[in-house]
Amino acid sequence: MIMSEEFFWWTEEQKAINKQVRTFVADNFEAAETYFWNTEFPWPLVKKVAKEGYFGAGVPKEYGGMELGATGSCIVAEQLGRLYAVGHVFTVSMLAGLEQILRFGTEEQKQDWLPKIASGDELGALCITEPFAGSDAANVHTTATKDGDEWVINGKKRFITGAGVSGRYFIYAKTSGEPGDRKQYSHLTSFLVERGRPGFALEKINPLIGFDNVPNGVINFDHVRIPDNNRVGEIGKGWNVMMAGLNFERLIGAAVFGGLFEDVVQVLFNYTKRRIQFNRPTLTFPGIQSEIADIIMKTKVSRLYTYYCAHLLDEGKEPMIEASISKLINTEYAREIGVKAIQILGGDGLTKFLPIERILREAKIGEIVAGTNEIQKMIIYRFSAMLPFFNKNLRYRWNDDVNAPIISTRDSKFKGMEVNEENVLKVIAHDYKVSPGLYMTPDDVREDLGGSRSEIRRILESLEEKKLIVSNKDRQGKTALVKASYDGLQKAFPLSYYEWYPKWYAESDKF
Ligand SMILES: Cc1cc2nc3c(=O)[nH]c(=O)nc-3n(C[C@H](O)[C@H](O)[C@H](O)COP(=O)(O)OP(=O)(O)OC[C@H]3O[C@@H](n4cnc5c(N)ncnc54)[C@H](O)[C@@H]3O)c2cc1C
Repeated sequence: MIMSEEFFWWTEEQKAINKQVRTFVADNFEAAETYFWNTEFPWPLVKKVAKEGYFGAGVPKEYGGMELGATGSCIVAEQLGRLYAVGHVFTVSMLAGLEQILRFGTEEQKQDWLPKIASGDELGALCITEPFAGSDAANVHTTATKDGDEWVINGKKRFITGAGVSGRYFIYAKTSGEPGDRKQYSHLTSFLVERGRPGFALEKINPLIGFDNVPNGVINFDHVRIPDNNRVGEIGKGWNVMMAGLNFERLIGAAVFGGLFEDVVQVLFNYTKRRIQFNRPTLTFPGIQSEIADIIMKTKVSRLYTYYCAHLLDEGKEPMIEASISKLINTEYAREIGVKAIQILGGDGLTKFLPIERILREAKIGEIVAGTNEIQKMIIYRFSAMLPFFNKNLRYRWNDDVNAPIISTRDSKFKGMEVNEENVLKVIAHDYKVSPGLYMTPDDVREDLGGSRSEIRRILESLEEKKLIVSNKDRQGKTALVKASYDGLQKAFPLSYYEWYPKWYAESDKF
């Protein structure tokens, strides 16, 4: 089995960086664990990562980066994720401006900021969340007010990863209090704020379930002045900037688990070969093998999907659905893998002496950050619901040859008949035979029989008044769906029309 396999669509440069960063991680694994055990921020290791140029994985070469795209950024994140705190600060640092400046920054801003991101000399923090804005990320209360050529920022951001240790803070602030702007999502603007600006302070570091040596906290802005040049994107376009950055954020947040999953598999094989119970290595128990197989399956599926999504981003697409799926499956799998791996290891799995309980704690954080998994499902649903493919009108037609309803593009048998109450009722009653539980849209009726929209609507109203059909109204009170009532079914066809029995059913048992 090949783990951390290179995918065939990776460029030679991406394949090379994969090998290089794996060696780097192997060489620095013990150091990362030492910082974890000492609960110390791994500054020297972060500097080493910077020296290797990894912070520039996604930065174009002309701005001092490696230009390895979203795919390259995932390759690096996946491996650095194995170095615990280093992985977190690496990903967050890239998220704090890279995608946003690349897509919305001026040339001057690119020249100024991108080399800084690439060098990793200072870390970056992404600041969306506030006491009032969590899942409802648009409900930002931090304000930015224009004063001459400067902006004055007031407010608080909370749960900020890299708070304090970062030098660069990518924030979203409210630049309009107009209800109309809020409705149009044009009330926000994005800015970069540097550490050291007067009035900008670290308020708190949170004690968390995980992130043992990763600072996460609250920052406070008290009349913090920044030049207009620190504004990224147009005034009022902060929401667009945020959304553009979020796909990359979700993807990288997913990728960071990939290397850890593979480490878990290694720990499990190593451990269960050496743990003897009932005179056998626990690896020989079919139940344990089945659970390890499940973990390997999840590892491979999530990794494949991560790189598929990265490829879409590198092609310049906006993979909202895919980035959410990637984040969702990687973090859910991380939790499930953590729970299963602990079970396989028994009591040892619950101790901190094995690096397994950690993944469970990190997974729980993963399910909440970068948009909770409930919000990811909301995105997956809403964006999918807009896709024409999923909204194709599937028409089932009764097929007399097989005596069953079949999805068909054929015309209805009523097509071309006179458009009158009797035939409209027949169409609707026939639909009961085809799909007994479903309603029809007025357009379905029109498609089956013909006629104009107004003609059909008038007939439907009349049939409803006579209680031969029932309807479901839309928000404007218009008829959205119709279905034959019992009386309507009786009037349209004799009972024999609706009868259907399987061939094996005995005549003597019918009544
Ligand atoms: C360790 C850690 C690191 C973080 N790092 C950063 C960072 O670097 N930068 C940053 O800006 N933020 C960061 N965050 C914040 C994180 O993004 C938010 O915690 C997250 O978006 C959820 O917001 P919330 O905590 O306010 O929960 P809430 O929004 O209050 O949600 C509470 C619950 O309600 C559910 N819910 C809310 N709305 C809906 C809805 N419409 N439909 C269904 N369910 C809903 C949620 O899914 C959740 O289960 C971090 C958080 C943590 C814990």
